[in-house]
Amino acid sequence: MQHRQLGHTGLKVSVLGYGASPLGGVFRAIDEREGILAVRTALDLGINFLDTSPHYGVTRSESVLGRALRGVPRESYHLATKVGQYGEGNFDFSAARVTRSFDESCARLGTDHIDVLHCHDIEFADLNQLIGETLPALARLRELGRIGHIGITGLPLKIFPAVLDRAPPGTVNVILSFCRYCLNDTGLESLLPYLHGKGVGVINASATGMGLLTLRGAPSWHPAPPAIMAGCRRAVEYCESVGADITSLALQFALQNPGIATTLVGTASPDNIRKNVACVGTPPDPALLARVLELLQPIHNHNFTRGRPENRDPIIP
Ligand code: NAD
Repeated sequence: MQHRQLGHTGLKVSVLGYGASPLGGVFRAIDEREGILAVRTALDLGINFLDTSPHYGVTRSESVLGRALRGVPRESYHLATKVGQYGEGNFDFSAARVTRSFDESCARLGTDHIDVLHCHDIEFADLNQLIGETLPALARLRELGRIGHIGITGLPLKIFPAVLDRAPPGTVNVILSFCRYCLNDTGLESLLPYLHGKGVGVINASATGMGLLTLRGAPSWHPAPPAIMAGCRRAVEYCESVGADITSLALQFALQNPGIATTLVGTASPDNIRKNVACVGTPPDPALLARVLELLQPIHNHNFTRGRPENRDPIIP
């Protein structure tokens, strides 16, 4: 396993992180025992950064992850969870709710300390409330030593500077971006110098574009428009036709960017974990990568957005 510093947090995280959303049954119904084995396999193979949220499977992901972590020494992994989103369309970034949410997450995860506590999908938040109320509530938890670091997550890229430029320096330690650094969309790259300049750690999620760059394809709830779905499908089918694994290529591509501390991949399958860990330190086949990027060129950086109108990125559909 390789490790990188997560911004100025002092956390040395494995370049491949474990995303626990599949433990909540987000992509398919899962067998809990298999999910627990996937977590244990990830830890055994050197993954030391685990990410979840009360939103995933409406608390199920946290509960299953908590059961998977029973008996594992707490100091052997870094744990991130989130506040503010609690099931489809259910957002509450008030100080009272996020503080209570933190305690509920700790109980489910079987711990009294969270290493990174994120505000989850802040494009759905009133950023005035986030900066004036939510972040100060999390800063109090950090002062009390209950959490190590504060993060913000979301899909549009513009939300990161919108918060980092207004919150007092040092309030936000980490950002989590998803679907914006993968084979079909590298929009996050343009923001990396700014984020590094602020000393903020960068977590990349969904290097497969939440399933777009997998053989199974995107789940029915996926927000990508048909052109992006079809464009990614062409790349998936090409890889299949030449006997290559599109998901491994997508991971190898994301993992080699030194400006990204860790890339989270979600899976409840131990076999997938093993395949994903094998991508660490394996550069993509140059000819395969060039051909796939060429196939994806017509939709390169075509994105999708969501959230409050003022928080949305301009889109290329
Ligand atoms: P992902 O890109 O990791 O894709 C997950 C899909 O890929 C699942 O269907 C999984 O079964 C499949 N997959 C994984 N490894 C595979 C392999 N080797 N072969 C074939 N298929 C494979 O998307 P994700 O799960 O959404 O993102 C990773 C994690 O990042 C999440 O679990 C979550 O923890 C985090 N995340 C956070 C946010 C946020 O905070 N807003 C958003 C997205 C993701």
